[in-house]
Amino acid sequence: MGLLEGKKALITGVANEKSIAYGIAKAFRREGAELAFTYANEKLRDRVKEIAKGLGSELVFECDVSKDEHITALKDWLSREWGQLDILVHSIAYAPKEEFKGGLIDTSREGFRIAMDISVYSLIALTRELLPLMEGRQGSIITLSYYGAEKVVPHYNVMGVAKAALEATVRYLAYDVAKYGHRVNAISAGPVKTLAAYSITGFHLLMEHTTKVNPFGKAITIEDVGDTAVYLCSDWARAVTGEVIHVDNGYHIMGVFGREEEIK
Ligand code: NAD
Repeated sequence: MGLLEGKKALITGVANEKSIAYGIAKAFRREGAELAFTYANEKLRDRVKEIAKGLGSELVFECDVSKDEHITALKDWLSREWGQLDILVHSIAYAPKEEFKGGLIDTSREGFRIAMDISVYSLIALTRELLPLMEGRQGSIITLSYYGAEKVVPHYNVMGVAKAALEATVRYLAYDVAKYGHRVNAISAGPVKTLAAYSITGFHLLMEHTTKVNPFGKAITIEDVGDTAVYLCSDWARAVTGEVIHVDNGYHIMGVFGREEEIK
């Protein structure tokens, strides 16, 4: 029997088969969860429908998280389709491309607002709106963060600030929903070549460096993230909430970034 048998999971943030959310959805399916998906806009609809179908789901709904009416419509749709929900996967982030050039000091007011709205506030709004569907279900909510929340990663800029806010949001939300028996956690993933990642200036260099100096000396995969997500959303993690789990092959534990043989 799969670890998520009998659980209903809403997956946001699938754009294609490289998306971290796709890695999570695949792992959830393997573990017996029923899946529903959202997509951000019309352009993504057919691709996400196709991906959902491949994972045994016909449930696909448009939800641009910058629009309150989309989030309300999502809740109404899910209430009709399922009437209940066990798992919410929030795998969404966005900042205008210009914000990844230069430094944080160059951030525009509008760029800051957009980054915070889509990458952080959306977790609060989705959680609040979908909460009634989780009643009596011991729900699990997960989001995706990155090491740039903790330390300076050149060019990550306002997204680093947004991820720091996201991690704080995880803790506050975890406190808020604990009274209903639900949990909220984040996975801080190492770099993965996805659409979102390519907006970041110099991403390929960042990826090369991170891969070379992490203790395992290899890149993480969306399957690595998927398996940790299974754990977090399964009953095995019933006492884990407000946590940020690094899935980065140990990059974050390093103090000196060089492999042994290089610094001899
Ligand atoms: P991705 O481009 O595949 O996914 C990002 C998703 O966000 C897309 O599906 C996009 O449609 C969605 N999105 C953007 N604006 C939206 C909006 N207004 N409404 C609804 N959806 C919207 O890239 P990814 O790397 O899989 O990103 C998923 C999450 O993982 C993000 O939070 C990202 O910051 C985080 N993350 C990525 C990496 C990495 O290296 N790729 C590392 C750590 C964390």
